[in-house]
Amino acid sequence: MSLPDIAAYDRAGLERLFSEMGEPRYRARQVLRWLWVRGASSFEEMTDLAASLRQTLAERFTIGRPELVAREVSSDGTRKYLWRLADGATVESVGIPSGNRLTVCFSTQAGCAMGCAFCATGASGFTRNLSAGEMAAQVAGVARDFSARVSNAVAMGQGEPFANYDATLAALRILNDPDALGIGARHITVSTCGIVPGIERFAAEPEQFTLAVSLHSAVQTTRDRLMPGVRRYPLAALKDALLRYFAATGRRPTLEVALISAVNDTDEEIDSLVAFCTGMPVHVNLIPMNPVEGSPFSRASDERVRKVLHALSDAGIETSVRAERGADISAACGQLRQRVSGA
Ligand code: SAH
Ligand code: SF4
Repeated sequence: MSLPDIAAYDRAGLERLFSEMGEPRYRARQVLRWLWVRGASSFEEMTDLAASLRQTLAERFTIGRPELVAREVSSDGTRKYLWRLADGATVESVGIPSGNRLTVCFSTQAGCAMGCAFCATGASGFTRNLSAGEMAAQVAGVARDFSARVSNAVAMGQGEPFANYDATLAALRILNDPDALGIGARHITVSTCGIVPGIERFAAEPEQFTLAVSLHSAVQTTRDRLMPGVRRYPLAALKDALLRYFAATGRRPTLEVALISAVNDTDEEIDSLVAFCTGMPVHVNLIPMNPVEGSPFSRASDERVRKVLHALSDAGIETSVRAERGADISAACGQLRQRVSGA
């Protein structure tokens, strides 16, 4: 049996572990720094721990390090990475530089079980949940590759974060921890397809993490068709959860809408979208859908995207259109999928 990965522990987890071992709490801080600041790949390197403790840790744990198997660089500087995990599962991440910011989009699962009709990950099915260490290591790996600090992290790669809630939260805490990646909580975003109990739990977390929800349509039948995995959380329940999220946190969630020609860019869809957002403290992010191979859907025209933008703006709803990055390397939303055969 393989040993557990110490990188999967956030500070609270390490503190519990060391207290069980009769070690002082500050061991957690030391180990976090070795793993995430100095990038140690063995316990032997952790020279401020007693030799006997290093030995015990080495007998009980491994240090997980996803292996980089492919890397593509876009003409706009965006980089896409394919990592192989300890059991051979593969996941992708994207690094998006912009001025002095570096945003990393990381995966929370290998594959995804939600089956959204327009998403490449959804089409490839579900493999397994990632551990917190496997999530944070993607972000650390991209930082290393850019030789830069990561300013923003978004759980918008493969997988549904709230279908893997505990590990995702532990990963966000590692990303946020000043002794690990040190990314500000407000600069860490989770995107969910709308799992209502997950939104409720997230609202009660003490950190100021940012929430994004993939809406895609405010017409129930359209949403059910596009996003079969969240049929059991109808729009009214979603709206209610978002209002309660705002009441509890004072933070406005982002609603993501990938615009698909003749599916969710019609006048009727626009009216429903405006009605859904009216009276809600939200920011709407319009994303021209990225074409996915073998999919019957095509992206909305620029004219329809503008129409949606204006309808929402005219109704006083704060709206933006997401700039496309890394299109030449298929690094855009929903295009991440496994390409290494046999993986
Ligand atoms: N499972 C989560 C997060 C990962 S998907 C979620 O669904 O929110 C990240 C974002 O990419 C989501 O908003 C998703 O709806 C969007 N997306 C998926 N496929 C897309 C495509 N082909 N074009 C544009 N956006 C897409
Ligand atoms: Fe999963 Fe998100 Fe893709 Fe839907 S859009 S299949 S929830 S990764």
